[in-house]
Amino acid sequence: MATPSLLDTITSGAQNALNAASEAVSNAASNVASTASNAASNAASTTGNAVSNVTANNAAATAANAASAPTTPQTPAVPATPSPAETPAATAPQVAATNAIVDPKPLKKIVYPFLGLTQRDGQQITPEIADALQYLKVWARVGDGFYPLGINGQFHGGIHFDGETAGVLAQHLGIRCIADGEVIAYRVDNQYPKTDYSTGGATFSSGFVLVRHRLQIPKNLMQAEATPVANPSPSTTEVMYFPFAIDADADWNVGMRRFGSGRSGGARSHAGCDLYSEVGRAIYAVTEGEVIEGPRAFYAGTHFLAINHGSFSILYGEIKPGSSPFSRGNRVEGGQKIAEVGRLNNYPQAMLHLEMYDNSHSGENMLLGTALPGKMLNGRPTHRREDLINPAPYLNQWKLNKPNGSN
Ligand SMILES: [Zn+2]
Repeated sequence: MATPSLLDTITSGAQNALNAASEAVSNAASNVASTASNAASNAASTTGNAVSNVTANNAAATAANAASAPTTPQTPAVPATPSPAETPAATAPQVAATNAIVDPKPLKKIVYPFLGLTQRDGQQITPEIADALQYLKVWARVGDGFYPLGINGQFHGGIHFDGETAGVLAQHLGIRCIADGEVIAYRVDNQYPKTDYSTGGATFSSGFVLVRHRLQIPKNLMQAEATPVANPSPSTTEVMYFPFAIDADADWNVGMRRFGSGRSGGARSHAGCDLYSEVGRAIYAVTEGEVIEGPRAFYAGTHFLAINHGSFSILYGEIKPGSSPFSRGNRVEGGQKIAEVGRLNNYPQAMLHLEMYDNSHSGENMLLGTALPGKMLNGRPTHRREDLINPAPYLNQWKLNKPNGSN
């Protein structure tokens, strides 16, 4: 996984920016903190505690929190004892110093903060989660702070990950920075502060990392907006089905099964997702459509069937010869059985190899043959039509709706 860790994002440039920012922030902290002290006593008490064991730059963030008068039970009731850092400065605020912060580079990557965590064949695996719905389901598990409402029913500006989500997210591997950015401020507690809350008191963390990101729409979303016809929408009102009536036998988001993984010793990229299965398992159409190609010879003694589903097309590959009653021009219904998983001559594991095309290209074969590179993935040719896309995010959603039928 080439995901940058948080530390990777702290470039030397960012470090300079951090130093410059810390100076500016120190002044801002003084002003914010003194305003907070004057404005609200509970805010001031937070401020007084917060700056007791930290440097000036990260006091600013705490002071900003204090200014918004938090009322969480974790807020310790400590008398305000302004440290030198928050004593109102005699000088005017140095707003010019904010110019020293380097403009963030364009976003290249956005990820969720944690990998998934699940078991397969008795082993723990940590697949990348590419499905927003899966993350929403994770948040439904937390004990409190399930965005956008907290347990008190009021709007809640953040999200929590806790012991309830630890069972389905790889939280033990640390928090990943969700996008390229620069660290502006951070604090790590040497000693956890204590609170005298009515439940008996406990330690808590006042640590944080403040990262500045460029507010920019990810490239794939911009492309989708620019060419709406090329954007197959998995969230239309049309009912979408998983191509099996049961789960696939392995996760198609990882390993050799994933879209773009290496094939032929790295000479080409995998053009689809592999849904492992036993030979003969029924394959269903993901939605209504028209057969545009096949069934015809595909790979290692198997066939494929290509169906235009309207806003996208799917190549159902590695199917059993003779198992599909359909041919070019036939209409199929969503959730209708269209073929069965075939046996590969040279590989013991049977599968549905599923490729997806966004229909921004048409009128030519999806399979180009080895003479034409076609769509490039990870620097390698796929020998497929240029509108080839990754079916994984769609399959991750469709798996929630299995067709009614035999396996
Ligand atoms: Zn495959």
